[in-house]
Amino acid sequence: MKQLVAFDLDGTLAESKQPLDAHMAACLRSLLDLALVSVISGGDWKQFETQVIARLPADADLGRLFIMPTTGAKLYRFVEGGWRQIYAETFTAAERGQILTALERAVDDAGVRPDKLWGPQIEDRGTQITFSALGQQAPIDAKKGWDPDQAKRIALQRQLVTQLPGFSIRIGGTTSLDITREGVDKAYAIDRLIEHAAVPREAMLFFGDAIYPGGNDDPVRAAGVDSVRVRDPAETAAILESLIAWNRPLPG
Ligand SMILES: [Mg+2]
Repeated sequence: MKQLVAFDLDGTLAESKQPLDAHMAACLRSLLDLALVSVISGGDWKQFETQVIARLPADADLGRLFIMPTTGAKLYRFVEGGWRQIYAETFTAAERGQILTALERAVDDAGVRPDKLWGPQIEDRGTQITFSALGQQAPIDAKKGWDPDQAKRIALQRQLVTQLPGFSIRIGGTTSLDITREGVDKAYAIDRLIEHAAVPREAMLFFGDAIYPGGNDDPVRAAGVDSVRVRDPAETAAILESLIAWNRPLPG
């Protein structure tokens, strides 16, 4: 049986930047009785606090949870009654400057500068810079309509790949690109999980909504972890219900 179930967050466990709904939170609570659980996302710790941690039932076994913000460049665990950062790998000032310059240029070169912004486009998470094309506070409706076929972000990604050797540029969420050091992707997160959770790759199962070429969940599948591509959080919840019922111990 699998020992660890890992999840992408946005589009897999919750709608983009929204908290887990009560049903999903209950599913995760039940799953924690059966397996170790990890959530891996481009978002920073604060995002996990509001989207995931605050939503979990009080009796959830938090000691079995591995929270991996910024695509696994950070790890948080619940130790001795509190959430602690286990490690974090941050950008140098020079790396940050190089990325911001390249992003400015790529937006113009790809011709995708939007007419309207809702909040800042750039979020610096220390270990990852996330570009949200319409701004971080853009409403979901505007976000869903901006790049439904990903053409704009693929064009941006093409520009950035040539300008940022040594960095990894991934499409995520509905309007965003995540930039990390090369090699820091969700497959890297899985490698760190193998180390910190002491669970072999074969004993892991991964759920993600972006398991396709260029998607930010695809490196996990490519790295040989059994992976399930889901359409949305509702589909994840339906699969989890089945998985939990199937593995529920029989009485006596
Ligand atoms: Mg996702």
